[in-house]
Amino acid sequence: MTSEERDAHWMGLALDQARLAAEAGEVPVGAVVVKDGQVIATGRNAPINSQDPTAHAEVVALREAARVVGNYRLEGCSLYVTLEPCAMCSGAMLHARLDRVVYGAADARTGVAGSVLNLFSHPQLNHQTQLTSGVMAEACGQLLKDFFKPRRLNIEPLREDALRTPDSAFANLPDYPWPPHFVSDLPSIQGLRLHYLDEGSVEADVTWLCLHGNPAWSFLYRKMIPVWLAAGHRVVAPDLIGFGKSDKPKKDNFHRFDTHRQSLLELIERLDLQRVVLVVQDWGGILGLTLPMAAPDRYQGLLAMNTLLATGEAPLSPGFLAWREWCKSQPLFDVGKLFARGNREMSDLETQAYNAPFPDKGFRAALRAFPPMVPEFPDSDGAAIARQAQMFWRNEWQGQSFMAIGQKDPVLGEPVMRQLKTQIRGCPEPMVLPHAGHFVQEQGQAIAEAAVRHFRP
Ligand SMILES: [Zn+2]
Repeated sequence: MTSEERDAHWMGLALDQARLAAEAGEVPVGAVVVKDGQVIATGRNAPINSQDPTAHAEVVALREAARVVGNYRLEGCSLYVTLEPCAMCSGAMLHARLDRVVYGAADARTGVAGSVLNLFSHPQLNHQTQLTSGVMAEACGQLLKDFFKPRRLNIEPLREDALRTPDSAFANLPDYPWPPHFVSDLPSIQGLRLHYLDEGSVEADVTWLCLHGNPAWSFLYRKMIPVWLAAGHRVVAPDLIGFGKSDKPKKDNFHRFDTHRQSLLELIERLDLQRVVLVVQDWGGILGLTLPMAAPDRYQGLLAMNTLLATGEAPLSPGFLAWREWCKSQPLFDVGKLFARGNREMSDLETQAYNAPFPDKGFRAALRAFPPMVPEFPDSDGAAIARQAQMFWRNEWQGQSFMAIGQKDPVLGEPVMRQLKTQIRGCPEPMVLPHAGHFVQEQGQAIAEAAVRHFRP
């Protein structure tokens, strides 16, 4: 074995320790101490479970090694650790007089073996420990990235004024294999857990940002997402607070136009979405069409389906007013049946998937709050921002646009969409789906395929 191969071998064992740490819910960092060609001690990060701020992988491994050799001086020993050591651990290593320290991934935040500073390069502090960096750095870093993406955010506590639909409600979702992602610290909805799908590469040429409306959730996009992933694109599909796998505030009056808009803006910033094609329908558009003007450089396209810009200037459609009345008179309406009514080919499992977020009426605040929240008058919440957005789409929009209309929609159908088309600069003739209703995405595969051709970079 070459010395590189030997280093990779020992680092592989440190990585095993890091994985064990991850399984225990700890930040995945692992270490091994090697002496005379043998592992004499292992350590994995454990500050949470051991309630010990010093229980970093390196310190744990050093303690065990010192016990094994019967000496706090560890001369002749090498320590392998998956992440660049912090100040505490580096100090301990220098005290131990290790022969050599080898680390994997750099730690730009707290690493003091070259990143923030380099304790090992000070002759006054260190005169015998040799330092090697970047061994299996990619594998070591990936483990940390994988850990932080879904896990850290998944354990957030539930706010007292909110409910969380149990995971079991989502156990049998047809054609929805994608793992959940959560964010719980968006400033506008502090402490509420917002769910989103995030599939495909962050480097992709296109990111389809799919926004659902009331009473749907990201499940609505299940027929479109695979088309875009197959094209090598990225898809991000959040569930609005109150819907899907996101937390559900108990009170109707939590739901405000500005709060939802702001939470979406913050999510887009947090994920740093680039090369976005904004995909909207229903409330996805009422809110979503006001987003690109806040950061136009992030967007390259718009795919609009049965939605509107509710500026409060024109009366809402009779179909919408009827829907709003119906929701008020049927506060416990069966969400799944509503979807099935316009989409006869939907299976029972699909129908249930639309009911899944709302196990009982306590979860239904958003269903009650959204219909009356559509801006109706010039001074309604959200109307002014929608008018600003209208100016943006008319005069400033630089991206490509694509429109698909479900013709059987009595609420936001062809007349509403033809009106919207006139407000979007450069919007071509829409794709019309004569058999699609309001929830156009249920026939979304053909739309997604046409959109891929349309937005080809
Ligand atoms: Zn440390």
